[in-house]
Amino acid sequence: MEASATQTLLHKYNTAGPRYTSYPTAPIWQDSYDAPTHERTIRETNDRANPNPHPLSLYAHLPFCEQRCLFCGCNVVITQQREHAEKYLGYLFREIEQVADLVDTRRPVVQFHWGGGTPTYLSEEQMTRLFEYQTKFFKLAPEAEVAIEVDPRVTTRGQISLLKDLGFNRISLGVQDFNPLVQETIHRVQPLDMTTRMVEQIRDLGFEGLNFDLIYGLPYQTVESFTQTVNEVIALNPDRIALYSYAHVPWLSPHQNQIPEAAMPETETKFRILQTALDLLTDAGYLYIGMDHFARPHDELSQALKNGNLHRNFMGYTVQQGKVLPSDLYGFGVSAISGFQGQFAQNQRKLPQYYEAIDAGQLPTMRGYILSEEDRLRQRVIMNILCQGQLDFAQLNQQFGIDFNSHFADSLAQLTGMIEDGLVILSATGLQVTPLGRLFSRNVAMPFDAYLPQMSTTKPTFSKTV
Ligand code: SF4
Repeated sequence: MEASATQTLLHKYNTAGPRYTSYPTAPIWQDSYDAPTHERTIRETNDRANPNPHPLSLYAHLPFCEQRCLFCGCNVVITQQREHAEKYLGYLFREIEQVADLVDTRRPVVQFHWGGGTPTYLSEEQMTRLFEYQTKFFKLAPEAEVAIEVDPRVTTRGQISLLKDLGFNRISLGVQDFNPLVQETIHRVQPLDMTTRMVEQIRDLGFEGLNFDLIYGLPYQTVESFTQTVNEVIALNPDRIALYSYAHVPWLSPHQNQIPEAAMPETETKFRILQTALDLLTDAGYLYIGMDHFARPHDELSQALKNGNLHRNFMGYTVQQGKVLPSDLYGFGVSAISGFQGQFAQNQRKLPQYYEAIDAGQLPTMRGYILSEEDRLRQRVIMNILCQGQLDFAQLNQQFGIDFNSHFADSLAQLTGMIEDGLVILSATGLQVTPLGRLFSRNVAMPFDAYLPQMSTTKPTFSKTV
């Protein structure tokens, strides 16, 4: 960090809050946004007569994993029966066709991502077929980021070579922690040399980007053990690092009951682990991008942060291309999310319902949301805080026809404590998140969320901000 967070501040601002991959957040979306609504909004936001087709992002969710990692809260299907994947691909292809029928497929794809689950659960032949099917309908821009999440435990050298041949240029490796006791306890045994060999192959093949995912707060983690993990990560030198907080919620994810309570680090220890990791990464030259993300200074996320064109969507931080983005994002597969021009939509979260909708010839939409003008204003404010770390009141006044100071008087009043703690600087013309405050940017954004008060009184919807 540019400035160090004290234990007192970490405690004070460790409250439940959204990660703001969207605003309004998913719990606010409505079942009344159904398949016909989604079909209509896709049609309305695709103008085949537009001489400058607007760029697109594509996400495909591949939900299968061979076994469950105990820390994981993702929407996954655990199975060793490979025929499930073949059946799923058949439905995924039909969904791709459904959407391609509605979209102006001249639109260049600037971001293409396979996530999961474990995308490399698919065989090489299945991966090739899926990639060719998607790119038959949707055309990749020459500069597109083509990315995939990879689990080194189940991914072969042949699959990595194939990904390179297909045109993937960024690989995101799940690492979490290198300590053997931690790995055994979370049921994810992935020794350092296994990850090292995969990194060497990725580098030898000339992939442009390499991300690592780490998790702090895991069972048996200590400041010393995680220091060793972070130092081993720094030695492997990924371009980007995501450092997530482990949410231990066995009442929501019953498989976490297999983790002994006594193995969980105390809150105080968890904070010290985080603080140590932040210091190690920034001392090693990584820049803090925001939320849980770090990048090398040469990385395009770091450049985007500097140039003010950083953006955030369901895939995390992305680079805004030119003036026209955020690009529309179409998500394919079970539970996948789409977000474009004032709407969000999520696919059915369970396979039977997902299959049933496609069999009925419908888009597999489960819920969604159409933003009001007030939502769009607040979306802009929250994304500016998270991505640019600042607000220019005059610009927002002009764009949305408001007087910022009176429109957001209540929100600004809630920032008083954060101003005193040095997280935010407020003037008559704007708001600036300080280098220290960027660690708490979710807390800075929360007063501008119109829906948060009604949600926090019902049930615990969000994880802790730290
Ligand atoms: S392999 Fe990845 S998606 Fe699957 S259970 Fe483990 S962490 Fe979750």
